[in-house]
Amino acid sequence: MAGYREPGRVQILHSIFKEGYPMPIVCTGYAAEDATASLDRFSFSRRTPGPTDVAIDILFCGVCHTDLHTVRNEWGGTLYPCVPGHEIVGRVAAVGDNVTRFRVGDVAAVGCMVDSCQECESCRRGLEQFCAKGLVGTYNSVDPILGGPTFGGYSNHIVVTEHFVLHIPEGMDLAGAAPLLCAGITTYSPLREWDAGPGKRIGVVGLGGLGHMAVKLAHAMGAHVVLFTTSSSKVADGLRLGAAEVALSNDPEAVAAYKSSLDLIIDTVAAPHDIDLYLGLLKRDATLVQVGVPDKPLSVNVFSLIANRRRFAGSLIGGIAETQEMLDFCATHGITADIELIPIQDVEMAYARMLKSDVKYRFVIDMASLARA
Ligand code: NAP
Ligand code: ZN
Repeated sequence: MAGYREPGRVQILHSIFKEGYPMPIVCTGYAAEDATASLDRFSFSRRTPGPTDVAIDILFCGVCHTDLHTVRNEWGGTLYPCVPGHEIVGRVAAVGDNVTRFRVGDVAAVGCMVDSCQECESCRRGLEQFCAKGLVGTYNSVDPILGGPTFGGYSNHIVVTEHFVLHIPEGMDLAGAAPLLCAGITTYSPLREWDAGPGKRIGVVGLGGLGHMAVKLAHAMGAHVVLFTTSSSKVADGLRLGAAEVALSNDPEAVAAYKSSLDLIIDTVAAPHDIDLYLGLLKRDATLVQVGVPDKPLSVNVFSLIANRRRFAGSLIGGIAETQEMLDFCATHGITADIELIPIQDVEMAYARMLKSDVKYRFVIDMASLARA
């Protein structure tokens, strides 16, 4: 196999390989060594592809707010060194003997999961994200084969079992497709689960990576979309992306105008915020789905729920079959993410802007930049 450049500061994990496992391959990426360190160049090992594996040279990787929460250990439990990245698009470099759906040279994509038990009721129903034995995350899980942490897409190469590899429909812009693998599926799945479509009034809270996908997808499904943003600079973009109406969420009167009028709200906000404000906008029996994951608990006034018999729910990414369905839906509707393409050397700048809600509307790393010094 070609393409393993400059081993650099090699950290070979021989000691934790299961006995008899073939020699690993050395990859380069960007990692955080601890919660306060900046991401920096890092070399590490991945398994040699087995019979059901697809090896992918990574072309693009989106920058999700989850990457930032994780490298800074905002949710606790981060395994270091941490190579983030779970919005991966690349080209197949090698396939195992039992791989049937991919050939060398194909475009391939990987999202937030790289394995699950495949046997439990959730896995059998295509809901691998809820695997009873625990999904294996693309990064920050324990690698079931090599031990140590799984390493994500801020790297030149990844090896993934075929079931967790997706097809990017032909003709789709590859850099713009990368964010679909997390931001796309995380918003598509609840929109489908709660029946977004014609005649429905859907609120979207926050216009960042997830929020701008929610606006585009709900609009493409035929819903009437109302965007709530804290950023007056994003109003025109919200309308361009597909919102029928935009309200500034820091103006209580503008928000109150939507009291008891929405069928579904997708809340993508990554920081603590007032949930009761948005629950009050739901019609009877309608649902607010929280997909943003602030680092502190959200408080809910129960009166917001008992009035109108409202529901407060959550949703985690989406299953593999649904992710492929979402990619195909996006191709049919001409949807990709609005992105800013950056070299990997600028990832800390991207994080700093993300913290200021200054994302228009997903940073995507051009992995060719990894070859530069
Ligand atoms: P992002 O690009 O940073 O967007 C978040 C947006 O929320 C910001 O652009 C901003 O939009 C709004 N916002 C930020 N701080 C706010 C505050 N203090 N008050 C009100 N609004 C605020 O983040 P992302 O990548 O879309 O991710 C959003 C969240 O979803 C993160 O917590 C991430 O970890 C989580 N996530 C969850 C899943 C899942 O499966 N559930 C999957 C992926 C990501 P405005 O400028 O428009 O106000
Ligand atoms: Zn993500």
